Amino acid sequence: MTELDKTESFRSGMVVIVGRPNVGKSTLLNHLIGIKLSIVSRRAQTTRHRILGIYNDPRAQIAFLDTPGFQLQHTNALNRAMNRTVTSALREVDAVLLVVEARQLTSADHEIIAMVPRTVPAIAVVNKIDKLGNRELLLPIIDELKTTYPFAEIIPVSAQKGTGVPDLIETLITHLPFGEPVYNSDAITDRPERFIAAEIVREKLFQSLGEELPYGTTVDIERFEHHGQLRRIHATVIVSKSAHKAMVIGAKGAKLKSIATRARKDMEQLFGGKVFLEIWVRVKHGWSDDVRSLRTLGYS
Ligand code: GDP
Ligand code: MG
Repeated sequence: MTELDKTESFRSGMVVIVGRPNVGKSTLLNHLIGIKLSIVSRRAQTTRHRILGIYNDPRAQIAFLDTPGFQLQHTNALNRAMNRTVTSALREVDAVLLVVEARQLTSADHEIIAMVPRTVPAIAVVNKIDKLGNRELLLPIIDELKTTYPFAEIIPVSAQKGTGVPDLIETLITHLPFGEPVYNSDAITDRPERFIAAEIVREKLFQSLGEELPYGTTVDIERFEHHGQLRRIHATVIVSKSAHKAMVIGAKGAKLKSIATRARKDMEQLFGGKVFLEIWVRVKHGWSDDVRSLRTLGYS
């Protein structure tokens, strides 16, 4: 195969995953990328940053943006900033994956579909089909999707079990433009390790506290140092009330200790070296509505 042939058959593109909270966007992304990078949690609104994960195979490279989902209930500064991020991301991509659950569309689903631009191919991903007793139960939602938006494809999957995911990749590739790969094939993300470290700590917090985790909790990496193969990481969990601080720390510090241990193990695996991780918990008031804080975190 000559270089020219290669360029003319290889496809490369940016894809954004959208959908209301909890439909399974992060789970799907993790499955697509094959490495656990984004946050998965029962609680809505866990992925606050856009995460770029990259899928590579011999025919195609797909850069995925995992969006925070549209926040329709709260209207503070944080949510407004997140909605803007999502809306602008939609216009920059080569294809959109709209994820819905395999049951009737909700008004939140409809609101999101209404924001999908008609200028890029959109694929509807009907997720959680493992929850359906019978495949025929898919027909009404497929009909509903067809009448709502001119989707290029409608693909049923179970992001959790992986059912339909290979089909989804095959189909998605056919909708991407021809072009050279943009990232090194070993790149799993264009985010620096510092960012990934914060994502991992945040993920462990959500896993450990679940629904109890107070809204507005955030993670800051204050120090990230390389000492040969060792990484020294100093993270701060910022909460808005002293009572929340106590919840994160737990009795005799047990909760925070287990969060730190699990975060450190994931970091060691992902970074491929030893990690010394320290986590502190700090109280800061009124974080969610503080636009200046949002700016320092890159949301505005
Ligand atoms: P996101 O908010 O859209 O990113 O959703 P998540 O990926 O965080 O998933 C929300 C919840 O749905 C989690 O508890 C997942 O384990 C669950 N989930 C995701 N995909 C599936 C699926 O295919 N089947 C089932 N039964 N549960 C799923
Ligand atoms: Mg998510």
